[in-house]
Amino acid sequence: LPHEFELARPVLQTIEQAGYEAYFVGGSVRDTILGKDIHDVDIATSAYPNEIKGLFKRTVDTGIEHGTVMILDHGTGYETTTFRSESTYTDFRRPDQVTFVRSLNEDLKRRDFTINALAMKEDGTVIDLFDGLADLKHRQIRAVGDAQERFHEDALRMMRAVRFASQLDFQIVPETQAAITAHAQLLAKIAVERTQVELLKLLQGKAPQRGLQDFMDTGLWQHCPGFADHEADLAALTQQLTHGVSSDTAAWTLLATKFGLTSSEITPFLKHWKTANQTITAVQTASRAATLLLTGELTAWQLYQCGADLVPVANEVAVILGASDRQSDLQAALAALPIHHKKELAATGRDLMQAGVQPGPQLGAILGDLEYQVVTGALPNDTTALVAHVNANK
Ligand code: ATP
Ligand code: MG
Repeated sequence: LPHEFELARPVLQTIEQAGYEAYFVGGSVRDTILGKDIHDVDIATSAYPNEIKGLFKRTVDTGIEHGTVMILDHGTGYETTTFRSESTYTDFRRPDQVTFVRSLNEDLKRRDFTINALAMKEDGTVIDLFDGLADLKHRQIRAVGDAQERFHEDALRMMRAVRFASQLDFQIVPETQAAITAHAQLLAKIAVERTQVELLKLLQGKAPQRGLQDFMDTGLWQHCPGFADHEADLAALTQQLTHGVSSDTAAWTLLATKFGLTSSEITPFLKHWKTANQTITAVQTASRAATLLLTGELTAWQLYQCGADLVPVANEVAVILGASDRQSDLQAALAALPIHHKKELAATGRDLMQAGVQPGPQLGAILGDLEYQVVTGALPNDTTALVAHVNANK
């Protein structure tokens, strides 16, 4: 058993000693059997949330209406979810009601893929009701039960399938793949925030070519905001993306650059996906730089605008799209810039006001101009020289 499971054993034992069942479930069981590192340990139990809360001193109601209680034990939090069955879905996304059940079988049956429907007892015994072990061995993604029904119940599962294909380098079995193709249009019913999580994980997976190919073949791509006009770009990207990108910002920058979006086109594109404004700004800057790196060089000003955070992103994206890797040159050029941040500018607003500039918008414009002149090397970063320049241009 991995260390994380060893640490969690007493939690399972406490629940079992009280007469309930408790198992490790979900991704941590899958990843343990695959020999991969695990991040979070999920526990499923026959005990109801209130029963769990009665057994442990410290718990947090992280999602009690869905049956999830976090047990705090020796500095670690364990998400513990009561066995559930999810029966009626009318909107293709969420179960209309959550029904707690006492049977593990019912709980595993509602899970998405056989490889995610394994349970493990505290002693390491695996419970495999849907041949998940065989699918793990053959590196396959297969819906639990009737694939058509399962995607109809919850359309997000289709994006999860292509995401896992990329993360695990697994093949989606033909029956499951066909069901995704048949139901791809239901993805439009899913909140973009949830689709986004899966798309970003796909692009950061270890086999993104596989995930992207499935995303294309099943038609899921057509139901992603802003993708419909970019079939050729996505097909080309499927060839180019030989390894996953390193961050969410890099993923968005890659798409924006591949789609040839201008800064003003990036805003509505990412707004459709409801990304943070900060992400939009970062992607605009990094995408512009990546585009320039594909055909030439970055100016000092462009390097400065990217900064140490976005230069690697721009370089990473440019390399995926065919540019040569210039990370070390770019890093050196960045280090050689006279300043790296506005606050390093030798003249402040106060200096300029003392020199007679009126406060207001023109003060900001003058400071912005000084920043540009210093970064590009036209003026030294020296208070006297900067103030003299402002006086000379009054
Ligand atoms: P990751 O390594 O990304 O956390 P995971 O398999 O643990 O992968 P989670 O989103 O953490 O994925 O979900 C935990 C488990 O809950 C899954 O393994 C699966 O059994 C179940 N599950 C999650 N989302 C769904 C869904 N939309 N439909 C059915 N079962 C789901
Ligand atoms: Mg998980």
